[in-house]
Amino acid sequence: MADDQKPMTTSNGAPVENDTHTQTAGWPGPSLLQDVHFIDKMAHFDREVIPERRVHAKGAGAYGVFEVTHDVTQYTRAKFLSEIGKQTEVFLRFSTVGGERGSADTERDPRGFALKFYTEEGNYDLVGNNTPVFFIRDPLKFPDFIHTQKRDPRTNLKSPNMMWDFWSLHPESLHQVTILFSDRGTPANYREMHGFGSHTFMWYTDASNYVWVKYHFKARGGFKTMHASEADRLKAVDADHATRDLFDNIENGNFPVWDVFVQIITPDEARNYKYDIFDVTKTVSQKDFPLIPVGTLTLNRNPENYFAETEQSAFAPSNLVPGIGPSFDKMLQGRLFSYADTHRHRLGANHHLIPVNNPKSTSVQNYQRDGAMMTGNNGGRSPNYYPNTFSGPQVKADISVPQLAMIGNMGRQEYTHPNSDFEQPGILYREVMTEDKREQLIENIVGALGGAIKRLQYRQSALFYLVDEDYGTRVAKGLNLDLNRVIELSKLSQDERVQATLDDEAFKEVASV
Ligand code: NDP
Repeated sequence: MADDQKPMTTSNGAPVENDTHTQTAGWPGPSLLQDVHFIDKMAHFDREVIPERRVHAKGAGAYGVFEVTHDVTQYTRAKFLSEIGKQTEVFLRFSTVGGERGSADTERDPRGFALKFYTEEGNYDLVGNNTPVFFIRDPLKFPDFIHTQKRDPRTNLKSPNMMWDFWSLHPESLHQVTILFSDRGTPANYREMHGFGSHTFMWYTDASNYVWVKYHFKARGGFKTMHASEADRLKAVDADHATRDLFDNIENGNFPVWDVFVQIITPDEARNYKYDIFDVTKTVSQKDFPLIPVGTLTLNRNPENYFAETEQSAFAPSNLVPGIGPSFDKMLQGRLFSYADTHRHRLGANHHLIPVNNPKSTSVQNYQRDGAMMTGNNGGRSPNYYPNTFSGPQVKADISVPQLAMIGNMGRQEYTHPNSDFEQPGILYREVMTEDKREQLIENIVGALGGAIKRLQYRQSALFYLVDEDYGTRVAKGLNLDLNRVIELSKLSQDERVQATLDDEAFKEVASV
């Protein structure tokens, strides 16, 4: 044994005298139950795999630092944003969304961009993506949407029919679908892509002063993407290429850097804006609300152990700190519940005690007790009820949070803001994309939508036509559809369009999802 090698032990810390031969009764002989080292080792192995995240299962993470470069104290009292030059340690986990834990990094998919700031006022999680919008705007639809991105219940195969059926039944998805099928759906790696908070959040300084905020993390050097053919090639030769790229670059000292910006919208501006700023299928134009610089984010350290740190990292939008709150964005409201809930299932009620999730710059003090894997001191001997007149932790009365007035009917409310689901993807298609990007977009859509049955091809092409006539025409032509029929369908209401594609004899194919 080399000098720096420690003695091997069992789980109870006793020395292991032999790790090569199981105990048997005679030779060859049956194995003995008294071989407690073998049983300890094998039983632990049998339990190595923990539940996979239902979404964002495949990921890679790294530690780094966030540094404030501009004064934003007029908008928020968050301490980690309180002075120029202030640095806060972070952990960032990138991921794909729909694929399983062993799936390829190259899949056409949004990428998760989940950031944990270890602030002195507690951990602040900004659980974003590499796109500024999302497919749906009500969390009630989330499980259904994700089912369409996963596997067919019968064949266990990914199904273009499930995906395009759902998308074509939800025109609100057109913005994200257009981004997803552009070159940005296949980022070159994790280091050189932007991140977005996607939702609108609240920043506040005290009980009466608040603004709405949107976060942008701009990769230094820009958002690098790859052509679909390159993504396909890489999938075959190195399915883990983005994981490898991130690890190797950090290991070699080539630290990825993002410039961090916010858009600030006052409550009055929000009320009068042409778009609903709480609708996560919409962006807030940077021309109307220019990006305001805040700081820089640098990743500079790889985890020592993938499972302990990256796999067990748990991000939740409900991890907020004083000065930052949620908005009315319904998807965000749903995520406030579902993220922490999934970690309770995946890692247990005490997942915050796992070192990567535990606050590093402050400590947790409250009246929660017990639960599986209570590895802390569980409050020790201090009181386990509140209020108390002994030595238990007290609430901090000087943190006042804005209280917003609400009037309205309680119940299931529809989105009524007069903006269209077609407008912003249209601006993206016409004004932001260059012709070569439009060509790639059409090629990618035709390749994917071509795998769905005809009535879905017609229904979806009519939606693209409503976004932009050129967009819809090119998709329809690429799919060899009857363009006149696509245009007719585009003139109907969504309900009529769905019914028309169901009634049309020409589309009556026998197909399961
Ligand atoms: P701007 O011209 O100020 O911004 C356009 C934005 O689009 C830039 O952030 C640019 O990123 C980004 N972009 C470029 N190509 C793509 C692509 N294929 N997919 C997604 N984003 C892309 O215009 P507006 O702010 O008025 O927005 C116009 C349209 O741009 C919106 O309707 C929306 O579709 C899209 N967009 C808007 C964003 C926002 O927060 N306002 C963010 C991202 C997209 P880059 O900085 O790398 O050039």
